[in-house]
Amino acid sequence: MLEKYQPVIGLEVHAQLLTNSKIYNSDSAAFGGEPNTHVGVVSLAHPGTLPKLNKRVVEQAIKMGLACHCEISRHQIFDRKNYFYPDLPKGYQLTQDRTPICKGGFIKVNTKAERDIKVVLNRIHIEEDAGKSIHLEGEEDTLIDLNRAGVALIEIVTEPVMKSAEEAGAFFSEVRKLVRYLEICDGNMEEGSLRCDANISVMKKGTTVLGKKVEVKNMNSIRNLQHAIDHEIERQILLLENGGEVKSETRTFNVETSTTSAMRTKEELNDYRYFPDPDLSPLEISEEWLSEIKATMPELPEQLYQRFVNEYSLPEYDAQVLTETKEMADYYLAVCEFSSNYKAVSNWIMGPVKSYLNDTGDSIDSFPLIPEKLSELIEMVEKGNLSFANAAQKLLPALLKKVDEDVLNLATRLNLIQDNDEGAIDKMVEEVLNDFPAKVKEYKKGKKGLISMFMGEVMKKSRGKADPKMASSLLQQKLNEI
Ligand code: ADP
Ligand code: MG
Repeated sequence: MLEKYQPVIGLEVHAQLLTNSKIYNSDSAAFGGEPNTHVGVVSLAHPGTLPKLNKRVVEQAIKMGLACHCEISRHQIFDRKNYFYPDLPKGYQLTQDRTPICKGGFIKVNTKAERDIKVVLNRIHIEEDAGKSIHLEGEEDTLIDLNRAGVALIEIVTEPVMKSAEEAGAFFSEVRKLVRYLEICDGNMEEGSLRCDANISVMKKGTTVLGKKVEVKNMNSIRNLQHAIDHEIERQILLLENGGEVKSETRTFNVETSTTSAMRTKEELNDYRYFPDPDLSPLEISEEWLSEIKATMPELPEQLYQRFVNEYSLPEYDAQVLTETKEMADYYLAVCEFSSNYKAVSNWIMGPVKSYLNDTGDSIDSFPLIPEKLSELIEMVEKGNLSFANAAQKLLPALLKKVDEDVLNLATRLNLIQDNDEGAIDKMVEEVLNDFPAKVKEYKKGKKGLISMFMGEVMKKSRGKADPKMASSLLQQKLNEI
């Protein structure tokens, strides 16, 4: 039954911009704070106050547009979206209706089955956030906190092109990755800095007319978004299969039950009476300003990924993992300044470094070891002065406790330096073979398993310090010659 239908999903993602002050006045835009402390007369919509546009907001929105391959609008106005709600002091939200700052564009996402799916965008526009209504348990009154009223947002609106919860989740996660790379939003979904509404419909496979959509409001995690979509798809298909009809309505997601329930139908929806705001002058973006903004664009995950694959010869998987965050990619690049064993560096970061971070819950920006020291350790392993196991399990943890120590000194003190003096190891191999003539005969007759016994003896002789790779190859060579 499910297979007869094609789900269709379009997302509207709100990202709170990282500006110091609000979008139309100088009140602090910081998250939290004592309720109603970031509220000047403009945020409170006192009569006679006027909005003044924050330049940083425009720059950050344009950066996102450039990262998403959008067309940047050079002439635009702001519109009033009128509705009444206690957390909206002006009685209207300042937004962009017909002249969004960015048009079209796309973001590429990956699912398990498909790479580089282009999720086409309809637009990105600038708007202001509303305040918060707080309903405390046991309180009859609704409390209002207006700190968030007037904080700058961008809204990223996709076309109805996604086909599954997995794809929508990948898109949401990709948006978070981009805004963090661009440093225009902290991407913190729990605090609501990044949140998303999902529009979901289903249609019979083979048809081209989209089904009626339902909008699920304000999801603040990838998991919730995906659960809401999966639940909605199933609910709509069941409805249709039982001869019912999907109503265009706004629904809310219930985290406890992983289901959605109706909030209001489209018919009850406000007519927002959009019209151009007469208090804000039209915004013109000059060629010069646009070039300045372009010049501040950082290298984006897609470009870094290509560079890691092409210049650093990393497997696609490594490139994917290392570009997950800008900080991780930066750390990788910093270590590669000192080491040209690019794949080894990648193995170290994806292996021991990541598992350290997982254990401590830290992110890579607070990883205590400077890139140069990690590179020294990696080089020692690559040269055979140190076994990988000792380096990862003993030296690295010791170094992380004493980050100022000299790497070689510490390794020596911990007795971890292995002998890779070919002459010395060769001599020990010789001695071992002389000590066990009977075993050598057995080996030559075909008991190849004895090689590990010989290796054991060589390692014993070296008191565990011979470079095992070298010892093993010398042993093999000698045994073949006999
Ligand atoms: P509305 O007028 O209800 O706000 P829009 O056309 O502005 O609708 O689209 C809002 C969002 O809903 C967009 O992300 C769009 O991709 C998505 N959308 C539109 N129609 C559908 C549909 N039939 N199924 C799923 N998503 C849809
Ligand atoms: Mg809409």
